[in-house]
Amino acid sequence: MADYAKIKQELEGIAVEDNPALVRQKSRDFYWYSPILKEELENVTADLVVSPKTEDEVIRTLKVAYAHGVPVTPRGAGTGNYGQAMPLSGGIVLNLINMNRVKEIHPGRVIAEPGVVIAELDRQTRAHSGQELRFHPSTAQTATIGGFVAGGSGGVGSIHWGGLRDLGNILRLRVVTMEAEPRVLDLTAWDLQKVTHAYGTNGIIVEVEMPLAPAYDWVDVLVGYDDFMDAVRFGDAIAHKNGILVKEIAPIAAPIPHDYFPRHKPFIRHRGQSVCVLMVAPHSIDAFTAFTERQKGEILFRSDKVESMKGIPHAYELAWNHTTLRALKVDANFTYLQVQYPGPDHVAKVEKMVKIFGDEVPGHLEFIRFDGRMQCSGLPLVRYTTRERLEEIMQIHRDNGCPIFNPHRYTLEEGGMKQTDVVQLAFKKETDPKGLLNPGKMIAWDNPDFDFSAGKNYLFPGLAAAG
Ligand code: FAD
Repeated sequence: MADYAKIKQELEGIAVEDNPALVRQKSRDFYWYSPILKEELENVTADLVVSPKTEDEVIRTLKVAYAHGVPVTPRGAGTGNYGQAMPLSGGIVLNLINMNRVKEIHPGRVIAEPGVVIAELDRQTRAHSGQELRFHPSTAQTATIGGFVAGGSGGVGSIHWGGLRDLGNILRLRVVTMEAEPRVLDLTAWDLQKVTHAYGTNGIIVEVEMPLAPAYDWVDVLVGYDDFMDAVRFGDAIAHKNGILVKEIAPIAAPIPHDYFPRHKPFIRHRGQSVCVLMVAPHSIDAFTAFTERQKGEILFRSDKVESMKGIPHAYELAWNHTTLRALKVDANFTYLQVQYPGPDHVAKVEKMVKIFGDEVPGHLEFIRFDGRMQCSGLPLVRYTTRERLEEIMQIHRDNGCPIFNPHRYTLEEGGMKQTDVVQLAFKKETDPKGLLNPGKMIAWDNPDFDFSAGKNYLFPGLAAAG
């Protein structure tokens, strides 16, 4: 057991919290979306929360933690869905929310500290020069830019720009290593893949440089169809329209809009109506409405036409993982999947899954640009019954050419490509020789011989010890 009284002493001058209730609160994220993770991670808690305000304080904290052999799990706002920011072996939660300065804004790029909330970052770049991030998660109002880079993948705007892993969507990351004498490294270009979506397992991000796009007063639109597949085909058609500028296209199946979007319910005609949620640039709205008419879509809602938007959430807060959240608020028995429907026959693949599962897996798609081509990924809801049935549903997707990014696993590999990321592993060997950063999240580090093809779940041994 580490000597936390001594560690606190050595961190004098840096904000440290050891009240168990508050520490537990900062040891959680949105892992409870998954009934599996809820069970597995329920008891996870750290020993201390350390909240540095500067790069120097981060370096000091890592140095002390290294000397004591204490794990450090970084945290932004704790909105991750897979227990990413949960300290599986206890130790220190490094809360970065107070490193929240926007440092510089230039044409096409911004430099900021990792703890700035994404909506605030966008607010400042808009006010400065009419610019905004290329894309953001639907949690923009709460999530941090550092947490997004380390734990997220894409979001609102990915229809044009793809995801965080696409070269050019992050310009530079400044990272502190977990060594006796922590180093500060500036990573660019291919090197960014060492730490992007690595859950903070191989370095603490202390500065980000992100590209910007022109900001618009995006118009929120809901287009209704009586058949979900018509909403999907409409989304696909709009996604392929060259001249109409949209930032978000999300077809969502009935009865989700009627049953779980209370503020938009007055605009939905009946329970069987599916919708396509969109954000349209104001200068594209005439072309958009003309095209929608031709596609026989009914415009149910336009944010520029309602009397007041007071109390009505942003359209993007109906989409991405907010769809799941809204359903869960009403019915705790829901969970969800993350599915890819590789093109060019993505619409046919969606249709096949809809036919197989019907209302057991209500559809929700997000159109994104993937390697330059338009396709859709999905975050369908699942009416959860048993673990076995959930596994079966995922397997049926895979068997039909729809890969699953499993949101019911806390490791990088099982949630992703089910293989070792050799670049991230090699970087961890360099930056975290004692394996103290966010333990239990990288199987390749803990168990290099783990056989992904055997279909077994990885259980981090340290988890039982911590629980
Ligand atoms: P946290 O959850 O605190 O951390 C995420 C990961 O990054 C953790 O592994 C943490 O250890 C690590 N980390 C945090 N800060 C640092 C740092 N400075 N250095 C190194 N590692 C660090 N995700 C998407 O990609 N797109 C979406 O549209 C989206 N929608 C969501 C909707 C809802 C309702 C919810 C609950 C989640 C959603 N997510 C989405 C997941 C999550 O909100 C995002 O990934 C978000 O950007 C995470 O930011 P955060 O500040 O909360 O990070």
